[in-house]
Amino acid sequence: MSMFVDIAFPISSYNIFTYSVPQKFRSQIGIGSRVTAPLGKRRTTGIIVGFPQKPVFTGAIKNIESLVDPYPVLDKPLWELIIWMSDYYLTPIGQVAKTVLPSKLSTRYDPPALWMVRIVSKGDNANLGNLGKNAPTQAKVLDQLKNYKDFIQVSELRSFASSPLKVCQGLEEKGLVKLLKETRTPNINAFTFDPISKQIYFTKKQREVLHDLSLMLNPKKFSSHLLHGVTGSGKTEIYIEISRKVLACDRTVIILLPEILITPQIAGRFRAVFGDTVALWHSKLTQAVRSWTWKRICLGDFKVIIGARSAIFAPVKNLGLIVVDEEQESSYKQEYPAPKYHTREVALMRGKLHKAMVIMASATPSLESYYNQIKGKFTYLQLSHRYGGAKYPQVYVVDMKKDQEEAGKIGQVFSGLLLDKIEDRLNKSEQIILLQNRRGYSPIFRCNDCGEMEMCPRCNVTLTYHKVGNSLQCHFCGLKKKVVKLQCKHCSGHNLGLLGIGTQKVEDILIESFPGARLARLDFDTARSISSITKLLKKFSLGKIDILLGTQMIAKGLDFENITLVGIINADTGLYLPDFRAGERVFQLIYQASGRSGRHKKPGEVVIQTYDAENAVIKQATKLNLKKYYNMALSERRELNYPPFSWMSNLVFSGKKKIAVLHKADKVRSGLSGKYKGLDIIGPAPCYRERLRGKYRIQIVFKSAKSQDQNGLKLHHFLQQNFGSEINQQTHSGVITSLDINPVSIQ
Ligand code: ADP
Ligand code: ZN
Repeated sequence: MSMFVDIAFPISSYNIFTYSVPQKFRSQIGIGSRVTAPLGKRRTTGIIVGFPQKPVFTGAIKNIESLVDPYPVLDKPLWELIIWMSDYYLTPIGQVAKTVLPSKLSTRYDPPALWMVRIVSKGDNANLGNLGKNAPTQAKVLDQLKNYKDFIQVSELRSFASSPLKVCQGLEEKGLVKLLKETRTPNINAFTFDPISKQIYFTKKQREVLHDLSLMLNPKKFSSHLLHGVTGSGKTEIYIEISRKVLACDRTVIILLPEILITPQIAGRFRAVFGDTVALWHSKLTQAVRSWTWKRICLGDFKVIIGARSAIFAPVKNLGLIVVDEEQESSYKQEYPAPKYHTREVALMRGKLHKAMVIMASATPSLESYYNQIKGKFTYLQLSHRYGGAKYPQVYVVDMKKDQEEAGKIGQVFSGLLLDKIEDRLNKSEQIILLQNRRGYSPIFRCNDCGEMEMCPRCNVTLTYHKVGNSLQCHFCGLKKKVVKLQCKHCSGHNLGLLGIGTQKVEDILIESFPGARLARLDFDTARSISSITKLLKKFSLGKIDILLGTQMIAKGLDFENITLVGIINADTGLYLPDFRAGERVFQLIYQASGRSGRHKKPGEVVIQTYDAENAVIKQATKLNLKKYYNMALSERRELNYPPFSWMSNLVFSGKKKIAVLHKADKVRSGLSGKYKGLDIIGPAPCYRERLRGKYRIQIVFKSAKSQDQNGLKLHHFLQQNFGSEINQQTHSGVITSLDINPVSIQ
């Protein structure tokens, strides 16, 4: 009897393909198994989605070729999650599967084995002269080995012999050395902080929160919560305590963190409590560590997974708890490639499928979650005080316009107040965090004669000057070019100027103003590897750095006792982006950054510099008045029918030829049928980033009022009917249509 399977491939098509299964694989496969099979001219990894009785396809049916894993890695809930994502984000199953189970990861991964060699006593006493007559290379290698008592890697001898293994094998035959093959398991803990042990005595308020959560843990049931705790209130300790209870029921935990940077510190806390059952998962793992970790997650060796966005797909069994820390962060959204999922949405669904507890936690919840809590979708747990009686910092707002007018100095980066306070902390040996949310040296490189600016030819945005490496870079597409000649391309003038301020420039000013200060800069450009970040943070925690300067990376999560001053150099950065969430983001950033100051015994201060002191967002943010700002923002969103009062999706058409893109967008727009009351269609209109990576972009935004469409099903149905089959397909004129369900920004 033949056996058939339907396979979905990671291609942008909903087609599934039927194959037959050779006898030898039959007992090892199931729904969700990964296999390789011929697709067109190539061998491709796909996923089994069904077992048809007989194929619908009438042509020749091919065989599957191999199994990627010797058993299905997906359990039922994770498989159902793939199905749900495919439907919810209108993305083919094969493509979702590739996100959930990256094809580079296989349970067959074995750490590489390395050849090791050691000299033995016969070798130690051997006469090198005699040996050298017939085998000079062997003599050279043996001579080297005399320097080592223990095994060393054979590959280390490469400078003495071009094929050291062969030479060593020759030596072994003569009984002069011993060879052995050793498996090198990657060190998965290399990147965490050392375990950070602490005595924890929960406060009354913390105990209440823990009590409320514990009640919901049993019976095995889905529950969702918003833990709204001010910075420093002990949210991490709550995660740890609840995890303990979940593990005690033999269930597993996923802790999601938005910023890789803060992982080592929190991971250090978790490791102190849960030891080797904790695994880290994020994009900066090396391939060996990633493969090794993943295999061991599949084997059930780890019970607590701490990681960034993609850790939501960790194939742990018996999942009992998901925590989304700083749930408002936009790094939780996958912007590219499809599926453009939001980790918050996926976490809630995975929680439902596993009958697990899901905790959204933040000091500054997203407006969505805040609203969900008001609507009763999440239970609301609040920690409104810092642990240990630490006070919220004293905030000073500097109106930079006024400040500079009064001082008669225009264009100063630092106000007198901030400079004084930095000086004061340096004198007291207390630490300082400075936030400048723009990297590079200057975002604008302009000719003072003709006024032309250097633009990215592919993205139509100004290129940012980077002093380190003396280059101009596009922060959208990554284009990088060396500045060879300081001459304007347009008028050949030599009078070039830099406008605007990035972290590198702030660094220069600081070095000049405080020559004795020990300064570190942490932004996308310096954060090369997690180990370098970990080192830097360790140095900071040991007090070997006075000033930590950085982009939004440093605004969250850091918990150091000695930070008593936070300076926000330009609070207005990002405020004027044409995006309905711009204000919310700026508010959250200011609030979070302020939260780094004075978290323990020493009182903290915050200096916020702004050019728009009257702006409503800035005003509430500088007062750290969260409730007032959220209510204000919510009523604005309600008025304009934006989320969380509506469901929103956007279609972006992009292509090299502007005419073709416009044409496609117009055609789509005019063909839209099936409108229902409460559906708002905006556009087509050029995206804010009209050209990106050499492509012209135009979008249509859909909003569906919740009052008419409670669960978003109407909009979903509408999108599926109208675009289901063309998303991510390229037309012959080169236009691609991509869809973003619940976009976090519409730029
Ligand atoms: P959050 O995550 O809410 O910003 P943290 O969990 O980092 O706050 O807590 C702030 C600091 O207070 C940390 O150093 C933490 O270890 C400490 N802390 C919080 N709760 C307790 C407690 N009950 N006992 C001892 N230390 C605590
Ligand atoms: Zn570019």
